[in-house]
Amino acid sequence: MIKIERGERPKALTLEVCEELTKIYSENRDRDVWNCPKIKKPLKEALLKMSRGKCVYCECILNIESKDVTIDHFLPKSTHANEVVKWENLLPACLRCNREKGDYEGIIVNPCVDSPKDYIALDSKSRYRLRGIDEKGIGKNTIISVKLNDIQRVMVPRMIEWEVIRQRLVNILEDLEERGYHKKHKSRLEVLMSECMPDCSYAAIKAANMLDDDNYKRIKDILTVEGKWTDKLEIYEDTMKNICLQFV
Ligand SMILES: [Zn+2]
Repeated sequence: MIKIERGERPKALTLEVCEELTKIYSENRDRDVWNCPKIKKPLKEALLKMSRGKCVYCECILNIESKDVTIDHFLPKSTHANEVVKWENLLPACLRCNREKGDYEGIIVNPCVDSPKDYIALDSKSRYRLRGIDEKGIGKNTIISVKLNDIQRVMVPRMIEWEVIRQRLVNILEDLEERGYHKKHKSRLEVLMSECMPDCSYAAIKAANMLDDDNYKRIKDILTVEGKWTDKLEIYEDTMKNICLQFV
């Protein structure tokens, strides 16, 4: 999970439209008014723009055409009918996360309001398992209610993506140490770092593993000595530091 900046409310979701749809929903709870033709497309587009095309909970990539892109009501619509189409209560989520969260009413991390890394960290032994770290248990509630440590659906995809990057770091370092610096080493590292940016899947976990990786640190040292640690690489690293979860 990474912090999300909530953008502007889509123009189609005017206060009048909100009022009208909220009324329809309060009279008939079976109506999925947030999917009504009037607002469905602009709403999904605005939400996906906000989350850089990802599920705000598990960070998988969502596709606007995919049936798996759902609109999550942060405060459950079952208990907060008046917020059923309130812009501030809507988040893009994958079908899996939305279903797991369901009508859960405990307090969980809101990535548009809270900074997820204050509540959730990575287990330093497993490297991919999330752990709640705040005293109130909000991080733990989030992980449990959305099943963010589901092995098959969430942990394995995280692991595969990071392991592919890690192996490529090993290859860069081996090549660097064997043949000495060549500009391709810098560009290959740039590509790997770009895969840990906020618009990429599982960015919080990949960025954390990258920054903590000995191969990465060694490559950075060599590039620095060669005078090839550029501003671009520095910006990538700052971005990773910003979004990464801590290991505990
Ligand atoms: Zn998800």
